[in-house]
Amino acid sequence: MIYFNVPLHTSKTMEYIADAFSLGHTSGDGKYSKLCHEWFKNGLNVKQALLAHSGTAALEMAAISANLQPGDEVIMPSYTFCSTANAFVLQKAVPVFVDIRPDTQNIDETKIEEAITSKTRAIVPVHYAGVACDMDVINDIAKRYGLLVIEDAAQAFASYYKGKPLGTLGNMGCFSFHETKNVMSGEGGLFVTNDDTLAEKAEIIREKGTNRSKFFRGQVDKYTWVDEGSSYLPSDIVAAYLYSVLEEAEQIQKKRKYIWNKYYLAFEDLEKLGKIRRPIIPAYATNNAHMFYLLFNDLQARTHFIAAMKNSDILTPFHYVPLHSAPAGKKYCRTCGDLSVTNKISETLVRLPLYFDMTDEQIDTVIDNVLKFCR
Ligand SMILES: *Cc1c(COP(=O)(O)O)cnc(C)c1O
Repeated sequence: MIYFNVPLHTSKTMEYIADAFSLGHTSGDGKYSKLCHEWFKNGLNVKQALLAHSGTAALEMAAISANLQPGDEVIMPSYTFCSTANAFVLQKAVPVFVDIRPDTQNIDETKIEEAITSKTRAIVPVHYAGVACDMDVINDIAKRYGLLVIEDAAQAFASYYKGKPLGTLGNMGCFSFHETKNVMSGEGGLFVTNDDTLAEKAEIIREKGTNRSKFFRGQVDKYTWVDEGSSYLPSDIVAAYLYSVLEEAEQIQKKRKYIWNKYYLAFEDLEKLGKIRRPIIPAYATNNAHMFYLLFNDLQARTHFIAAMKNSDILTPFHYVPLHSAPAGKKYCRTCGDLSVTNKISETLVRLPLYFDMTDEQIDTVIDNVLKFCR
């Protein structure tokens, strides 16, 4: 069986976890959390980088930091994971869905302005497959209308827009380290910002609404409940896992790009024959090889493809059920304009297996089976 994803750990993972235990600090913000925070602050060049227990949690931290009032609106794509919208629904805000671009499956920046009302407070671009949204256009709209930009960079580890790391182009950025992402800790996430006010706010939100972080830095002599919040920090055991993986990030990225490029080249002819379309990376974006997908011409072709691959013991899942068509999406969200690209993509996109430990034999088996099906 070739699985869609297989989680990884490194030769150091168990050692670092054991070390966290031997240090007697397994709760949040111990040695390994601090190492991860420094790693991201340096790598992303941000003022604040805070580990969270999931990408979902990081999005919730951002949504609470945005200080939304009930009924405030947040513009985002419908073609995304439910957490993108759910984080704002928890704040009683209303996600407003606009269509996506047919090339990158990212929010169509030309459709954002018509979705803006007097209640709009934020834009939430999702960097689908780790490929950048057109952030200059989005940031310009946000500036003109006084809106926050909150990047769902869950899939966007080590990817760039015009040379700048994704997750650092808006007011706040949220990453995921779920086992299906490029770097992982089982479950895990990261909140980043360059804004001093948001940085302090997020710290409080993450620590149950207390100023505990200030206390540990010696800036206050006792800590107390100062604002609303929850508990979003991961255990240092999780951080130890993540840090061991971050140390191997370069190798991981190299391998993922190797697999991605193999797929990309192998399916060139199928694209020329009009059987499928391969991923498109705009000139302003980089490819972090988070995902390799194929787009079929219609739902029927995709359904047959997934069944045929499963017959050959290869798992090729699809996503997303567009949020505007999901029960909770209908209840809590609204749409702006027609979402025909979203609907079409959600019926025709399929993802191929891509994980660090994939062997050349497995990659070739997937390629052979795709070619066989399309012939
Ligand atoms: C994975 C993902 C999330 C959620 O991250 P978790 O760590 O699983 O909570 C949110 N948004 C997008 C686009 C994702 O791919």
